[in-house]
Amino acid sequence: MSFTEHYDLVVIGAGHAGCEAAMAAARMGLRTALFTLNTDLIAQMSCNPAVGGIAKGHLVREVDALGGIMGEVTDAVGIQFRLLNTSRGPAVWSPRAQCDKQQYRLKMRQVLESQPNLTVKQAEVVDLIVEELSVPGSQFSETASETENRKLKTENSRRRVCRGVRLHDGRSIGAQAVIITTGTFLNGLIHCGEQTHPAGRAGEPPSQLLGEALKLLGLRGCRLKTGTPPRLDGRTIDWSAFQQQPGDPEPTPFSFRTRRITREQVPCYIAFTTAETHRIIAENVHRSPMYSGQIKSIGPRYCPSIEDKIVKFPHHAQHQIFLEPEGLDTHSIYVNGMSTSMPVDVQLAMIKSVPGLERAEMLRPGYAIEYDSIDPTELERTLETKKIAGLFLAGQINGTSGYEEAACQGIMAGINAALKVKGEPPLILDRTEAYTAILIDDLVSKGTNEPYRMFTSRAEFRLHLRIDNADRRLTPHGRRVGLIGDDAWRDFLAKQERMRSLAGLLEKTRLTDQMRKVLLSENRELGTENLEGTLAQLLKRPEVRIEHLAPVLRSSDHTPLTTDHLELKSVETEIKYEGYLRQQERAIERLKKAEQRSIPDWFDYASVSGLSREMKEKLERVRPRTLAQASRIPGVTPAAVSLVNVYIEIQSRRFRESLAHRLTDSMIH
Ligand code: FAD
Repeated sequence: MSFTEHYDLVVIGAGHAGCEAAMAAARMGLRTALFTLNTDLIAQMSCNPAVGGIAKGHLVREVDALGGIMGEVTDAVGIQFRLLNTSRGPAVWSPRAQCDKQQYRLKMRQVLESQPNLTVKQAEVVDLIVEELSVPGSQFSETASETENRKLKTENSRRRVCRGVRLHDGRSIGAQAVIITTGTFLNGLIHCGEQTHPAGRAGEPPSQLLGEALKLLGLRGCRLKTGTPPRLDGRTIDWSAFQQQPGDPEPTPFSFRTRRITREQVPCYIAFTTAETHRIIAENVHRSPMYSGQIKSIGPRYCPSIEDKIVKFPHHAQHQIFLEPEGLDTHSIYVNGMSTSMPVDVQLAMIKSVPGLERAEMLRPGYAIEYDSIDPTELERTLETKKIAGLFLAGQINGTSGYEEAACQGIMAGINAALKVKGEPPLILDRTEAYTAILIDDLVSKGTNEPYRMFTSRAEFRLHLRIDNADRRLTPHGRRVGLIGDDAWRDFLAKQERMRSLAGLLEKTRLTDQMRKVLLSENRELGTENLEGTLAQLLKRPEVRIEHLAPVLRSSDHTPLTTDHLELKSVETEIKYEGYLRQQERAIERLKKAEQRSIPDWFDYASVSGLSREMKEKLERVRPRTLAQASRIPGVTPAAVSLVNVYIEIQSRRFRESLAHRLTDSMIH
């Protein structure tokens, strides 16, 4: 096969998944090419100009802990940082940052373009180059057992190998692996009232040829939908009508490697819809493509359009909306909470019905978009497709929604494609160590029929998966694969040491009279009873926080305390919830054992007697790698999992016996 150019890895699409994938692979030493439709729109924020939020912030910290770039870029261009959920337990705290949307693009482009081994090019990929390999000896055999044939069939189906991509201008680019991260672009169709037009997102063309090519390759897909609100001209808004929402006085960075946030910070504003807004929507709902039947695909349930909210919650007198600046050098304001695909005239009337927006000019209308996605049960946990070796998918194409969900898949696909090209074992994270793993495991085990987004409630062991310990969970993996440089690794080890010695200090220091005096004078809200024992014992009391103990430690001439808020909180959490964390660790061990019980590639569900047809179909479709993964497939019962467990033994024995017979036969003849 002759190619115009050749790389180790080709990434298609420079959105949030593609940027992480390409950076990871290039930093792991692969000659990487990133093809995208428009290099001026790298890492474009298609919807809201913000990164993070509940559970999404966890994903960004995980991407960062592995050595990804989303966190550092956000820290560089964030214009309002807030740590959310701090009134609740540490498991659900999550950072969010309003970003300067234009600066985000520029900064990401600068990061990509200064990365050795990485070339970013503007071109439309229209097809994949897939080679069919016919391997001698892997034909079906009349005499082989059903299990053996199943194994041969699996091998055969893996004999399609992705060798590169074809560009719209006719060039063919060779690669040892390809990652597709085309977001909402595959056969995208925008809806705004009764009007529709093909697009990847507003102002950009759809990717139709690649969409059709993937169908021809036999990858199952479905059609999904998402939407965005209008943008307003900030100069035409009466800001005095709204409540200001400032950021945190001390912004918490996303990245473990950022020391301080230096950019100017700005407030957002809180507004509410009115009875008049609801009347306008209700009277025109038949013109919304969601309700007129024009849109048939499924949108994100957790992120409903404003017309959805009015129809589904008619008893609500008002809905909260947030007015969020899109940057420091623009007047564009994002109307968070007012996603809509109503016709433009209705959108204008809706906006003007909000007090303070009577004179507001709309810079861009909201719209909905339908697009093709690939059924993620087509994927291995490495994000490589089961049907075509060397082809990986990441981001919205896999049925997810959100920049952060895309980024975490991007880095994992980049890492695993690079490891595959280098001939090294894959990096498969466990559900108990990362939200990233939960997302991938949910997708490949259960599939999704609506845009999937992360929630903290999806985690079985939430207290283990906190934003403060993402580095402890994942940085050693990042270091092993080559994404954490020497300086970052040294800082990581020093931090772990600092935290260990602080915890040790709290464990061994007993409260003296002098300390008690300092404690009470600095923290008047603390009661005077039972102030005894070690500082760690004191910290276990619900009303005591590590901030209360800081003056005590300082007064007793100890090594200077870190000023990093999350670092201190991390030590507090580990001590305060020690018993609960231990309990969870035991449960995690049990789960890991179940995860280790693997189901062979060649396992034949059809020959498991006692398994209903429905169970067989579900298991055959996903072909889980472990019994634990099988148990997470919706509708697969514990009884079915135990049957599979028994049949792994039976089929393995038969397989071994049949091989032994054939070996003896070949020796005799
Ligand atoms: P994208 O960021 O979409 O990037 C895709 C990239 O692929 C682009 O750079 C494009 O140029 C490139 N590309 C496409 N086809 C080709 C090709 N053939 N050849 C070369 N390059 C190609 N998320 C939320 O969490 N909440 C929301 O409310 C929300 N609303 C949204 C509303 C709209 C209208 C849109 C469009 C998206 C919305 N999203 C929302 C989703 C969010 O934007 C995506 O989840 C996220 O951007 C996905 O990242 P990605 O990297 O997978 O793809």
